[in-house]
Amino acid sequence: MRQLSLLLVIILGFTETRCQTDKYTTYFELNTLRIDLVLAGDHDSQTIYLSSFQKEPFWGGTKTVSNQLSDFGIYRFSYLTDDNQLIYSSNFCSIFDEWQTTKEASVQKRAFTHTITMPYPKQKGMLQIETRNKKGEFENTLNIPFDPTDTSIKQKSFPNTEVISIVNNGSSAECYDLVFLAEGYTITEMDKFKADIKRMCTYVFAHTPYTQLESKINIYGILSPSAQSGVNDPTKKEWVNTLFSASFNTFNSDRYLQIENTSTLRDYAALVPYDHIIVLVNSKKYGGGSIYNNFTICTTDHALSEQVFIHELGHGIAGLADEYYTSEVAFTNYYHLELEPWEPNITTLVRFDEKWKSQISKDTPQPTPNSAKYKNTIGLFEGAGYTAKGIYRPSLDCKMKTNRAPEFCPICLQAITKAIDSATSH
Ligand SMILES: [Zn+2]
Repeated sequence: MRQLSLLLVIILGFTETRCQTDKYTTYFELNTLRIDLVLAGDHDSQTIYLSSFQKEPFWGGTKTVSNQLSDFGIYRFSYLTDDNQLIYSSNFCSIFDEWQTTKEASVQKRAFTHTITMPYPKQKGMLQIETRNKKGEFENTLNIPFDPTDTSIKQKSFPNTEVISIVNNGSSAECYDLVFLAEGYTITEMDKFKADIKRMCTYVFAHTPYTQLESKINIYGILSPSAQSGVNDPTKKEWVNTLFSASFNTFNSDRYLQIENTSTLRDYAALVPYDHIIVLVNSKKYGGGSIYNNFTICTTDHALSEQVFIHELGHGIAGLADEYYTSEVAFTNYYHLELEPWEPNITTLVRFDEKWKSQISKDTPQPTPNSAKYKNTIGLFEGAGYTAKGIYRPSLDCKMKTNRAPEFCPICLQAITKAIDSATSH
């Protein structure tokens, strides 16, 4: 009987997988639809414009066709066919919504580019973009009609450069595909780039949950050479000619490394199927950055580069919040205490039931004292999200709080695992 049940489970599992693949091929091609947007406005206002559609050679994401909506991120986009079926949805953040919380945004308007991707639809439909309103709820912002046969959709030729497969654990639909790109490495520094990828990956896979997830992850490297070595460093007045024009001092925060225009970056990433883009920057300076469902960037040669990398990857892949509250940041009032943040690892207690409340044992006081006694305890520790009072985190320490933390806290572990599992179901 047990054997029969097991057989039934295997058959049902196989049928489910085949059914999902059939569903995918009904609605989508094996290509990516890249949608380039412009996000413009100031602290209080935002307008999103369509810049262009592009058809790219691969789709690296899941082939599960889902009509479920997620509550992550600042933005959500969905594709509805002409007969109103929801066939794709994804969530993201952008550099624009971060900039909206800076002082500059209260005195002037700016525009930033942003790219979103989805499997290339076979049917005509409507792309809907939603943004969180002041109550933290998603609100429809832009509807863009899409016709897959429109001849104005670009299919340009992609950069002619070498691509290396570093780890291959299976098809892109079954695995989470990480693509590493080189920034500020000259053509003669590509062996260093390959060694840097391996060093970063060795560190990440030595830590939970990546150790357990390693067999589900593929790794590619794209040898993307720059004309000059290094990175733009405005506070030192150092400007170099690099492929993606990465720069420190984003929003006047010296250690915040970013790429404001990601068009070239996306052109290079499109050479492989990918779930998440990582940019390694050839510099000794401390710094990095990451935007949820966009890309992760960090330097390679500072003593803490590996620690910065694993922290930033937590933002990019799983939408984790910063759990620190003592360092200076470029943002002012990033979180509103009357709203529950969407990130899984912090809470304002507004909707704590939906976070890790059920995982706190009866014996643990809430709030939990910031003392070594509660070092390995899931609790409610005050101070997180750049704020000392009113925002809480799950553990005394975590890789989302400090670089010296040996591991992620249990709540961050769960969030990273969930993000990678949901992207590798097929
Ligand atoms: Zn954590």
